Amino acid sequence: MDRVYNFSAGPSMLPEAVLRKAQSELLNQAGTGMSVMEMSHRSPAFEDIHTRALASLRRLMQVPDNYRILFVQGGASQQFAAVALNLMHTNRKADYIISGNFAQAAYKEAARYGQARIAATSQEENFSRIPDLNAAQFDPQADYLHITTNNTIFGTQYNTLPQSGAVPLVGDMSSNILGKRYNVADFGLIYAGAQKNIAPAGLTIVIVREDLIGHAQSITPTMLDYAVHAKADSLYNTPPCWCIYIAGLVFEHLEALGGVDAMEQLNIAKAALLYDFLDDSRLFNATARREDRSIMNVCFTLPTQELTDAFLKQTKARGLVSLKGHRLVGGIRASIYNAMPPEGVQALVACMKDFEAAQA
Ligand SMILES: *Cc1c(COP(=O)(O)O)cnc(C)c1O
Repeated sequence: MDRVYNFSAGPSMLPEAVLRKAQSELLNQAGTGMSVMEMSHRSPAFEDIHTRALASLRRLMQVPDNYRILFVQGGASQQFAAVALNLMHTNRKADYIISGNFAQAAYKEAARYGQARIAATSQEENFSRIPDLNAAQFDPQADYLHITTNNTIFGTQYNTLPQSGAVPLVGDMSSNILGKRYNVADFGLIYAGAQKNIAPAGLTIVIVREDLIGHAQSITPTMLDYAVHAKADSLYNTPPCWCIYIAGLVFEHLEALGGVDAMEQLNIAKAALLYDFLDDSRLFNATARREDRSIMNVCFTLPTQELTDAFLKQTKARGLVSLKGHRLVGGIRASIYNAMPPEGVQALVACMKDFEAAQA
């Protein structure tokens, strides 16, 4: 069977070149006579994989020297608690901007460990936009300000970051890490589940400024304490070795393609193919506010459920899959992360054109 164009929001497509390389190395990794899944995480072969992955990610994101990169488990959802437990230590207060469901979940989790406050929300507009923000809304006493840089379910992204002053900005970057350039130094902490733009599920990336490490609340579980992972170089216990291996292959693949800036340009061009068509269409309707449109998750609707179902049937017949929108938005969601080739997006737009013409 041929590979399909998989528009899943996560887990998502991986670059075919990476899958092929992993396939070729599966039975015998670097002359060890075993696969990465079978080797000790303390072996020289794995140490090499781990070190190279870290170095490559540091180059890709231009991570400054005073930031640590941690490879942990538990998904982005576990970081909802970890961030609060580690960072809510001085005034035990934090501000959250609620721009979608994951932001809401992060806020609720933080509220268990301190005084979490909603600084702004766009819930009343079903998160079709990033809330309007100004510095006066933010509590200067907060231990951090939390944002979700790309809202996977609703298809919005921040194009300018909130001005939080001396208050560290924390970014859940799960769905646009390495897809759009951010200046790491604008954040105190960045976290991301790997399964959207990097690797299989099971690896979570944390990039944290050194001065924010080492102040965890006393109730913090060992496994959620950034100081524990930083001290052990992310090898406190058995790490997700296979995911780190694939992540390393993806990082090196991205570097060979020109890095984050090249990916961002490509992602802007891919997204424009869809948004330009949507803006001219009489049948399809983009749901996110124009200024806040995500270049990773493109959400749109058709006028009726019958038309939506018929469209999904037609896309599937053409090998374009996992396009059904999240239940909170309905309609269609095309997730077009780094690994989605432009040809996949072109095929989707062609399908939309044909579908619309057939309705007219
Ligand atoms: C997918 C996603 C999450 C949840 O990630 P898990 O790794 O499944 O916990 C959180 N935040 C954002 C922005 C996401 O896209």
